[in-house]
Amino acid sequence: MRFFDTHCHLAGEELLPTSEELASRAEAASVRGLAIISADLASLRAAPTLSRQLRASHPAQRIVYSAGLHPHEVEPLGPEAWAEWERLVREPDAVAVGETGLDYYYDHSDRASQRAAFDRHIEMACELAKPLVIHCRNAADDVLSLLDRPAIRRHPNPGILHCFTENAEVADRLLDLGFHISFSGIVSFRNAEDLRAVAKRVPSERLLIETDSPWLAPIPHRGKRNEPAFVPAVFEVLRGIRDEAPEALAEILWRNSCRVFGLDPEVSA
Ligand SMILES: [Zn+2]
Repeated sequence: MRFFDTHCHLAGEELLPTSEELASRAEAASVRGLAIISADLASLRAAPTLSRQLRASHPAQRIVYSAGLHPHEVEPLGPEAWAEWERLVREPDAVAVGETGLDYYYDHSDRASQRAAFDRHIEMACELAKPLVIHCRNAADDVLSLLDRPAIRRHPNPGILHCFTENAEVADRLLDLGFHISFSGIVSFRNAEDLRAVAKRVPSERLLIETDSPWLAPIPHRGKRNEPAFVPAVFEVLRGIRDEAPEALAEILWRNSCRVFGLDPEVSA
């Protein structure tokens, strides 16, 4: 079986210094695809070079990156920062737009700034026909109302709601808009029964897995710093609750990951 970590922060300050070693450990754990998600200006600047370097040192792995500014970071960002984001997100190598979204739990940025920044990412994703990578915490109503627009409904591949922790109704509305739903290590936590019930019923062709490393290490790694090599532990949870044969489930997750990021699932990188 082969796995794809659709959301890791290898270009972030915590993982960047050891990213070569982490990519090797991932490969040894059958993690053959990595999506490096940028979230602040530093990781946005680092991601293109890092992904090129890791592709050169790990030719058997599919390694892509996305360009975004996380809702935690968007206030106060000036016009130069947005101009830089716009230049980087337009690069052909940037396969997705995000991490973006809304976080009304931490409220690190004021809500109006978060909504304006999310809207900017949505518009760009629609213009470039690239998928969004969306973060949502305590903000599902506003995330859904900002996403529900004709340009998203026309988008052939609108993207991913990452680290999904919402209920089945929110999942259904996202699926209706054409999104993929990605589960992180949270789905392995003991008190996550409701989330596992949602993960059991997402249609297999819209399902993804991720680590969101360095945060949220899945059981049995909980308490450690998370890394892409741990994504098979998220797979183990889905395998335990879903009806597909394990090999078939792993393969469909692989194909979904390649499709959402515009990669050929068969050609090696
Ligand atoms: Zn993230």
